[in-house]
Order: sequence, then structure tokens, then C-alpha cells
Amino acid sequence: MNFYLLFFLLIVIVGSVVSYIYFMKEKKANLNAIQQGVCPKCDKVAMQLIDQRSTGCSGPKLLTFECQACKYVGSFHVDGGGCSSGGCSR
Ligand SMILES: [Zn+2]
Repeated sequence: MNFYLLFFLLIVIVGSVVSYIYFMKEKKANLNAIQQGVCPKCDKVAMQLIDQRSTGCSGPKLLTFECQACKYVGSFHVDGGGCSSGGCSR
């Protein structure tokens, strides 16, 4: 086994894991801002929930937000939070 090849593979794997974590963090920060109505693109408080899909009672929800100012659209999967959140009709 070539040591340099192994080293290269390690770098690639670590790099992709780090970028994935970074991406998820950024996505989460974006979602927090958007849920407060702040557009991540133009920083105006113009985000509106235009679509909301649920796959079931405790399944994740797909929320789609659109900025009324610059037409930025963002979709996010969020945890349903179970039936206690009141978002579920049994
Ligand atoms: Zn915007």
C-alpha cells in the first residue's frame, strides 16, 4: 500500500467530513435566521413560509421559504417535534 495514497485518502475523507459539518452548521444558522423572517441573501425581514409538507406525525417537515424582496427561496428539513408541538392532527 502506497503511504502517500493512504495519506491522500485520509485528507479527502477528513476534508469532506469537515465541509459537511460546516455546511450543516451554516444551513442551521440560515434556518434560524429565516424562521425569524430574515433573508440570508438580502438581509431584509421579508421571508415568508410559502410551503409546508409533512411526511407524518413525527417525521421531518419540509419548509419552503421565499423572500418577498429578492425572491430567494430556501427549503429546509426540520424535525416534526412529535405530536406535542400541536402541528399534528391525529
Ligand atoms: Zn431577500
